[in-house]
Amino acid sequence: MIILIFLVLFLTAAFLSARWTWWRRQMPGLAVLCYHKIGTPPSGSKLKELWVTPAKFRSQVKYLLDNGYKTLLFSELDAACKGTISLPEKAVVITFDDGYENNYTQAWPILRELGAKGNIFVVFNTIGKVNIWHDPSSEPWINMATAEMLLEIKKSGVMELGSHTMNHPRLETLEPENAAWEMRESKRQLEALFGGEICAFAYPYGNGASSPALRDQALAAGYSLDFSFTQGKTLWPWNRKHGPLDRLFIRGDENIFDLELHLSRGASRLF
Ligand SMILES: [Zn+2]
Repeated sequence: MIILIFLVLFLTAAFLSARWTWWRRQMPGLAVLCYHKIGTPPSGSKLKELWVTPAKFRSQVKYLLDNGYKTLLFSELDAACKGTISLPEKAVVITFDDGYENNYTQAWPILRELGAKGNIFVVFNTIGKVNIWHDPSSEPWINMATAEMLLEIKKSGVMELGSHTMNHPRLETLEPENAAWEMRESKRQLEALFGGEICAFAYPYGNGASSPALRDQALAAGYSLDFSFTQGKTLWPWNRKHGPLDRLFIRGDENIFDLELHLSRGASRLF
């Protein structure tokens, strides 16, 4: 009987330690949080982890502010990379991929109210449309933010925009000149539509983020910051030659302890 109790306790501890990897070493470096959609997953969604409820998002941003983190805009991170400002000791960059309407209706008001900043990687050709790169049988199409919404967000000074290509392709599957066009043209169009400089780029699906040729193309297109979808933090000061800026993917089923582990250890789970 005692052996059975010990076995159950051991298995429970092993499960909890795999789900919340508290035993990892502290990881120094810059933390960049990666979100997608703020809201409740629609029925039929098979990518529920991409959805974080507004209540959870609010508590996560509040956790950051209550614990002394300073949230940065892309332009501030860029200035810190260039050495024109110094990076705050507890810096964190909040990013959203794709440019969903719920970033405007849900995330922006929460950031504004709490006094935090965020950034959105926009897919230029889907502005005001839907997420057509998803198969709707696994992830329903939902509204993307319109140009008016994105302009309002940008003008508020609460969020800045970056590029996530023209069409959300897997860049490594394209001919090099087409991949280069996706990066170059989206920067040009975003700057023409919203003004200012677009300095940040995120590779859709993280595809191409470890390809030296594609990273060179991103640099040639004029992006000084490029972001992967690889889980982790980035050693500071960032040396672009060593790879793109890594990110901490915040899943919808995670809690505040996960966020704490992401920030301190660069990951919160084994599965
Ligand atoms: Zn994306």
